[in-house]
Amino acid sequence: MFIYLNGRLVPEEKARVSVFDHGFLYGDGIYETMRAYCGVVFMIDEHIRRLFRSGELIKLKIVRPPDEIKRAIYNTLSKNRLKDAYIRLSISRGPGEIGLDPGLCPKPTIVIITKRFKEYPEEIYKKGVRVSIVKTRRNAPEALNPKIKSLNFLNNILAKIEAKEAGVYEAVMLNYRGYLAEGTITNIFFVKDGSLFTPSVEAGILDGITRKLIMKVAKGNGVKVEEGLYTPESLYGADEAFITNTTLEILPVTKVDNKTIGNGIPGPITGELHKGYKEEVERYLRTGKI
Ligand code: PLP
Repeated sequence: MFIYLNGRLVPEEKARVSVFDHGFLYGDGIYETMRAYCGVVFMIDEHIRRLFRSGELIKLKIVRPPDEIKRAIYNTLSKNRLKDAYIRLSISRGPGEIGLDPGLCPKPTIVIITKRFKEYPEEIYKKGVRVSIVKTRRNAPEALNPKIKSLNFLNNILAKIEAKEAGVYEAVMLNYRGYLAEGTITNIFFVKDGSLFTPSVEAGILDGITRKLIMKVAKGNGVKVEEGLYTPESLYGADEAFITNTTLEILPVTKVDNKTIGNGIPGPITGELHKGYKEEVERYLRTGKI
């Protein structure tokens, strides 16, 4: 595989960054994960917009314009002959003297890694997965704004370790006030009495691109959508639940801790929304629009 590294496509064995890179030393940087379907990067503009927002929030100036970044993504896919792919674009503060001051790093490091997309096991979509509400709380937005899609993932990694120890697929983090926030790499939704609920951005979450599209699909299907602050009990008592992100799309959740959700099988609204989401993907492939 070829890796895009600072404007060049290099074989992966030769794609090396400095040990003085502040991405490595301090987790100082930002990233996006994208998914390509049949050679089209789904909602690429939204991902690039969020990348620039993350850059602004950490005062990292992305010198390459959005169009050049888009071209770089497509060139990397094409060099690797990939059509259905996972794409990870990272920008770190770059190499510099030891010290926290971003001014020590004159040139950010930009890396694009692409991989053939490996379908998730069909079984997890058919049966749903179990998640656990973990002890690790989501960073308070006043401490580290979750809107920053940051290279520093320790908060989420600690939650992931708890999930692994509990033997569940994903961890659900509460915010510092005890309300539902999000998963380690996913947003969470639940259905109650025919309406769809999801923690609001104010709960301290990453405003997922998939999350936003699901809400649009739901509204288009006449499903009432509410964003707010919800307790763990509201999730335990839900009729249906699911998690979302760019690569998973919609993954049904059938158990939270030891509580079975609904009938313990993926629910009808979850299925309908996933179908609607796939139709949005199809439309995007045809028209380049959502
Ligand atoms: N929340 C967190 C913490 C994430 O890291 C991600 C994706 O990586 C998401 C939510 C889902 O975001 P998206 O739908 O844009 O992939």
